[in-house]
Amino acid sequence: MSTVQETKVEKPEMKRKFYHLIINGEKLESSNGTTFKTYNPATGEVIAEVAKASKEDTEKAIQAARQAFDYGKWKKYPVNKRSRTINKIASIMRARFNELVELEILDTGKSLHAAQGQVMQAIEDFEFYASAIVGHRGAVNSVPGPFQNYTEKEPVGVCAQIIPWNYPLMMTAWKIAPALAVGCSVIVKPASLTPLTAIILGEICLEAGVPEGVVNIIPGSGSEVGNYLVEHKQVDKVAFTGSTPIGKNIMERASQTLKRVTLELGGKSPNIVFDDADLEAAVDGSLFGIFYNTGQSCEARSRLYVHESIFDEFVHKFVEKTKKLTLGDPFDKGTHIGAVIDQNQLDVIDGYVKSAIEDGADILTGGKVAQVKGFENGFWYEPTVIANVNHKMKVVNEEIFGPVVVIMKFSDEKEAIKLANDTEFGLGSALWTKDGARATRVANQIQAGIVMVNCPFSAFPGTPFGGYKQSGFGRELCIETLDLYTETKSIISYYGSRPLNPFGL
Ligand code: NAD
Ligand code: MN
Repeated sequence: MSTVQETKVEKPEMKRKFYHLIINGEKLESSNGTTFKTYNPATGEVIAEVAKASKEDTEKAIQAARQAFDYGKWKKYPVNKRSRTINKIASIMRARFNELVELEILDTGKSLHAAQGQVMQAIEDFEFYASAIVGHRGAVNSVPGPFQNYTEKEPVGVCAQIIPWNYPLMMTAWKIAPALAVGCSVIVKPASLTPLTAIILGEICLEAGVPEGVVNIIPGSGSEVGNYLVEHKQVDKVAFTGSTPIGKNIMERASQTLKRVTLELGGKSPNIVFDDADLEAAVDGSLFGIFYNTGQSCEARSRLYVHESIFDEFVHKFVEKTKKLTLGDPFDKGTHIGAVIDQNQLDVIDGYVKSAIEDGADILTGGKVAQVKGFENGFWYEPTVIANVNHKMKVVNEEIFGPVVVIMKFSDEKEAIKLANDTEFGLGSALWTKDGARATRVANQIQAGIVMVNCPFSAFPGTPFGGYKQSGFGRELCIETLDLYTETKSIISYYGSRPLNPFGL
């Protein structure tokens, strides 16, 4: 995803055992004293206890954010001062890079390389928006006669930001950074499975000089805290990343107050390998495309379509390399595949694989819960390749969110495009070909927010990230995200020498 900083990450002891809510600049326990535990999915061990926000705490966070937005100074700062503060957040994160990486690995079970790349990207997101905001401005529009029109971009207000568990810090950065840049206040609800790095990021924002109440972090349940935020009259916008069913539910609830909504939802992204592709690059890129982050990626390229003339050779190479992927200690540099997030997700993945077997598919490798030496109590799944499938099967149509890929054949470009688009989703897509004209032609016809051409990476700070169809709407990580955190105000003035008298009275 991003450049990895070469540093030594020690396998840490979890020094801090308790994590607070952050409301109005204060580190608080929950109003009713409730807490929840967070686990290391690699080992199954409890790593920390976290204050669990109640409805009362959520109300308090909304009032703090409201107060900070309506009467506070953040949005009134000259843009260079906000930019400087956002850069300060990035530099504190850089100084605490290893600590953030360690914590992210412990809370998610993801591999060292994945965590390093994601923490680095989170840092670079803040740097990107610190720069981007300086050039974000309204326009002067041409109007006839002695009239003048200009527009102002005003911050939308109080934003609820709801985060999934697969990229806890990176998704939080994608949301906080642009909102802060334009002058909004935020209330972040991290996923209950992975709240730790978002809490640390909230502390870092305060340390960097973001005024109290502008960034509030309230771990808690989706149905309680999440719903409360989404329905509240004093919340102006909700930015959600998560599953498609919950995204639909949020949109429906948010309609009652006509909140601004952006939704980054699920996917089932196609990966097309044409007969003229660089075969090695296509194998390696496709492998990364699905197994990166243990397949727990919204843009995981989980449907692989290979031209019939190279199908056998490609599949052979792909399966051989899949077998070489290492599952093991997430802190080892050599580990490719980390743990699955929890037992529930492990059951979901295994259920999909079993459904494929029942539907008559062939498991070419993997296909079961993995046994990893020294990590017997963790949640692990073997990287799995499934062939002999078709578009009627669940395993081809639904998002699995695990290290499972289905491989199918196609015979010409038209068919490849048709198969790729035969899905409710439209987030990522990839294609492998040496023919530039074909790449352009196919890229133009794919119904997805992101097309990767001979490229395994889906996101860099500055590149728009978001979906077509039921993968949601709105774009993150880019300049236009700033527009999604602002309202456009149009100011029309008259500068004629004579007073206007439109009624002619
Ligand atoms: P999820 O939908 O279960 O939960 C996401 C967040 O929503 C969590 O914080 C959860 O507590 C909260 N939530 C749950 N119910 C809620 C409700 N009723 N109201 C408000 N909030 C509620 O998703 P997950 O399992 O955490 O994450 C995996 C999903 O996220 C996958 O579908 C994946 O594709 C998607 N995802 C999408 C993107 C993207 O950019 N498109 C990025 C990462 C993940
Ligand atoms: Mn955890």
